[in-house]
Amino acid sequence: MMNKKTQGTNTAIVHSGFKAPEGFSAFPTAIHHASTVLFKDVAAMRARSWLNKSTYTYGLHGTPTSFQLEAEIAQIEGGSYCVLAPSGLAAITLVSLSFLGTGDDVLIPDNAYGPNKELGAWLKQSFGISVRFYDPMIGAGIADLILPNTKLIWAEAPGSVSMEVADIPAICHAAHGKGVLVALDNTWSAGLAFKPFEHGVDISMQALTKYQSGGSDVLMGAVITRDQELNNRLLMTHMRLGLGVGMDDVYLVLRGLQSLKLRFEAHDLAARKLAAWLKTRPEIAKVLHPAWEDCPGHAIWQRDFTGAGGLFSVLFHEKFSEEQTDQFVNQLKLFKIGFSWGGSHSLCVPYRIETMRENWSEKGTLVRFNVGLEDVDDLIADIAQSLDQL
Ligand SMILES: *Cc1c(COP(=O)(O)O)cnc(C)c1O
Repeated sequence: MMNKKTQGTNTAIVHSGFKAPEGFSAFPTAIHHASTVLFKDVAAMRARSWLNKSTYTYGLHGTPTSFQLEAEIAQIEGGSYCVLAPSGLAAITLVSLSFLGTGDDVLIPDNAYGPNKELGAWLKQSFGISVRFYDPMIGAGIADLILPNTKLIWAEAPGSVSMEVADIPAICHAAHGKGVLVALDNTWSAGLAFKPFEHGVDISMQALTKYQSGGSDVLMGAVITRDQELNNRLLMTHMRLGLGVGMDDVYLVLRGLQSLKLRFEAHDLAARKLAAWLKTRPEIAKVLHPAWEDCPGHAIWQRDFTGAGGLFSVLFHEKFSEEQTDQFVNQLKLFKIGFSWGGSHSLCVPYRIETMRENWSEKGTLVRFNVGLEDVDDLIADIAQSLDQL
């Protein structure tokens, strides 16, 4: 390098070459921003491989900050590899585009996260992929739906809004018998309450936007596998689509992870107390919480899951009109109206579930609660004051 004194100010600033000083030590993972990643010589540049996470190649494929988050998410989920994406939905798209091509067939549960079904409609219309929606409670019966061109089965447990708990091991067993991959949207369990790879899942997907972030302030997704070949296919699609993530966002998720388990358990405890209380109210016909018998798949949840988190739904008694249940939601004070979940604030959303499903036979308006980290007795009082006004 030139003598600093002979350099212009701009050159000196651009080449300041900051590195954390030797001897400096602190807990947080450093936020390494990079588009360009430097090589020590041409040979090192030519030898690079972005498929190999032991080297750094370009910001799009990660920096030490994102590699650290990938390692932590893989560990929580019980997988070996993790690829980050800019949102949970981008992670879903990454999976479908990695394992599906024109002429292939994919099965998606009828109760899947809505935009996954919407993506399916697009794959069908614009990419010539056959997309079929199946009854989430089908279990081993899914074997009868598998065609020679079926390449991928999506699963979700419980379903995002209606909360049925699918028999994931039975679906995986049937799929593997016919050489079909199973991808699970495991967001509800945060990778804590359900260990996908111990139940046969090939590809697990997480919306880190929810519990892992915990702050209602960042969007991110992840795809986790145990198989290097599957991971390489995901990395190839990730590169082709340019699904980079911002390192400040990665840092926020890393920060959230420190308290993930404690928050998840607090959400779980509060949600179960609230669900038990709702069960005593005459306005509520069914409590669709996997820990309650009202919820389809309750026994499967007991068998396969170790916890529940803060998201569940209820069905109002059919004598209440949609106008009345909308009024119930509007009159809540602590529960705010908004999408997403997993943060510290409680949320409440009414759904027109019959318009979201191919098959839905239950009566009564469905309302979904995300139980935050407020004192649960205050949340119960809030719901009570609104129900009492009905
Ligand atoms: C929120 C959510 C997603 C999508 O995550 P985004 O980061 O909001 O795109 C996917 N699946 C489930 C079950 C979700 O709740």
